[in-house]
Parts: sequence; C-alpha cells; structure tokens
Amino acid sequence: MSRVYALSIHADYRCRHSGVCCSSNWDVPVELPVYRGLDAALASGRLIPSAEPDGGGLALIVEDDLPDDAAAMLACTTAGDCVFYHSGTRLCVVHRDLGEERLPSTCRHFPRLAVRDRRGTFVSLTHYCPTAAATLFRDDVPLEIVEAPPAFPDADYEGLLVEPDAWPPLLHPRMLMDDVAYGAWERHMVSRCADETLSPEAVVATLQRDAAVLRGYTPDAGPLIDAVAALPVDTVAVPAHDALAPSLASFAEVMRAVPDDLKPEPDEDRLADVYLAAVAPTWARWGGPHRRYLAAKAFASWTAYQGRGLLTVVRGLEVALALVRVEAARQCRDRGRSLDADLLKEAFRHADFALNHLAAGDELARLWGRVEGRSRGRTRRPVSVRR
Ligand code: SF4
Repeated sequence: MSRVYALSIHADYRCRHSGVCCSSNWDVPVELPVYRGLDAALASGRLIPSAEPDGGGLALIVEDDLPDDAAAMLACTTAGDCVFYHSGTRLCVVHRDLGEERLPSTCRHFPRLAVRDRRGTFVSLTHYCPTAAATLFRDDVPLEIVEAPPAFPDADYEGLLVEPDAWPPLLHPRMLMDDVAYGAWERHMVSRCADETLSPEAVVATLQRDAAVLRGYTPDAGPLIDAVAALPVDTVAVPAHDALAPSLASFAEVMRAVPDDLKPEPDEDRLADVYLAAVAPTWARWGGPHRRYLAAKAFASWTAYQGRGLLTVVRGLEVALALVRVEAARQCRDRGRSLDADLLKEAFRHADFALNHLAAGDELARLWGRVEGRSRGRTRRPVSVRR
C-alpha cells in the first residue's frame, strides 16, 4: 500500500482519445504475457489489426535486439500509426476488443510519469499528451499537491523506482536531505509556482535564491525541514527574456542529452526574430499556464534523485521554461501568427516531447548538475528506472 500524490490540475485526468500516443511512430515494447495473449488473439481472429505494417510483415515484431523485458514490439504503419490504432474512431482495437488489461504496459501507463519512493507514489503527466497539456490552462482548482487523486489509484506505475535503501535527494553534492525535508521542499517549490503575483521567470529566480539559501544549511542549525520552513517569504523580481539566445542555448543543451538516432534535424531559422515579434509581446499573458508547467516539473522530479542537489532541480525548471520559449517561437513561425492559447499548448507539448521522450533523464541531470559546481568524487545513486 503506497500513498499516491498528484498535482491538483492532473488529479482528475482522463484519456480523451486524442490518439497522439498511438500515432507518433513510437517503439512500444510488448511484455511476454501480453505478447502471448495478443498473439493468440491474432491467430484466432479475435483481434484484427486496423492497418498494414510498414513494409508488410507482422503486427508484433519479434527480433533479436529487443529491450529488456520485451518479447516483441508493436508494428507501425508507413504513416507512423500503431497497427492497432483505428484512425477513424481514434480508438485502440486491442483496448476495444480485448480490454485494457491486454494492453502493453507502455500503453496502459502513458501519459503518466511516476516516482515511487519511501514517501509514496508521485504521479505526474507528460504534456506531450494534448489532454494533459490542456490541464495547464485550467484555473478551476488551486495549484497544489493532493493526496489520493481520483485518477490515480494505488497501482504499480511505470517510472522511477527508488529502492527503499536508496539515498534521499541531495541538498548539494556533499549533503543528503532527509525524506521529510525533501517533501517540504517539493511543496515549497509548488507553492512558489502557485503564487499568482510571480512571473514564471520570477518563480525560477526565487527558487534559485531559495536553493542557494539552503546550501548554507548546517546540521547544527537544527532539522533541515525547519530551514525549509524558514526560507525568505520575499521573492526575486526579474524581467522577462527580451531575447531568445539564452533559451536556444538551453535547447542545445537538451539536444546533447538526446541519443543520436533520436536527434531531430536542426530547425532554428528565424526563431530569434519571431520570438521578439510574436512571442515576447504576449508572453506575460500566459503566466498561469507557465507556472503550472513549472509546478509539473518541480513535482515528482526525477532530477531530484538523478542529480546532485536542489540547484540542479531548479536548473531543470529553468531549462523547461526555456524550451517553451523556443517551441512557442517555432509554433508562431510555422503557423504565421502571434502566440495564442492553441500555439502555447503545442509549445508545451513539444517541450515535453524533448524533455520526456527524446532526452535521457540521467544525462540531463548530469548536464544540469554543473550548476552545483565542482565536487570531489562521484555520487552513486542506487535507484532503478522501470519503464
Ligand atoms: S496498442 Fe493500442 S494503445 Fe498501444 S499504441 Fe497501439 S493503438 Fe495505441
């Protein structure tokens, strides 16, 4: 039995069959028991693929070079749709004809991204899913962490599994936190994001200041949780970005964490100019969605366990916001109009595609960890990723 937590904006998530996850040309592994069930259903005619695989062949691809725990991969069409995706109804025929329990684990869990540690299970969403991205625009619930979210019962979610004997997150490269203090810091980050008086840049700058203050903590000052509670109430004011160059540099950093076979073609033509003309003038209007996006990066953070300290976690928020600027400029350039809600939603989707589905999380944490400065020796993190 594990306590489950989520952000309030995600707590009642429900799939609305956008079909994006089934038409993205993804490699979806099929576990052995699922493979056996699907193979038998295909052989008996109880399951019929919706479309032909690219280049012919079988709906379930069995080959030598499969990921661990996979008995097969789902085949895709030439257009990149899963062969079991019915594009007319936008339904999965496995789900429709055999039931949810026959779906590969990846399909059952998307768009959930979970961290399970000694404190409980923390479920966030990847906003590459359009339904999840839409939750960033809702203002009907206060932005906070909630327990027992209706959408996420206690279950074995895919994600980052922190072994019971693993280290808690690092405060900085030379000091561990304790679970209670880390929980307080996580809530503190989300409460900064919920502050409607702050711009997203101010949220990041204030959290950078707060993390820097906590770096000065020493155990003789008392419990670390008290130091979190005693963080300054004032905030740090910073202007919005008046140029895209720093964000493009952050984008390039994320691309360095993308394996070569997944790296997209460079596509930055005119982005700096478009940012100035079509993004920057209305950027401030979207403070709510930006802050909710930052909260989703602060909550259920993998970087807390993969990185070297709290500054690294905040650096992850800063980079995520930078990617939204870049993707917003790309959307405005490609659609030929100024930033609006639809384009910003697409920008969130593409930012999360890069962060959650292209880049390797541990490599991002390593790159972002440079903000912690140099330290003696390497840190070994006894965590495992179950995907
Ligand atoms: S099996 Fe179903 S849910 Fe999974 S990718 Fe294919 S169509 Fe989508």
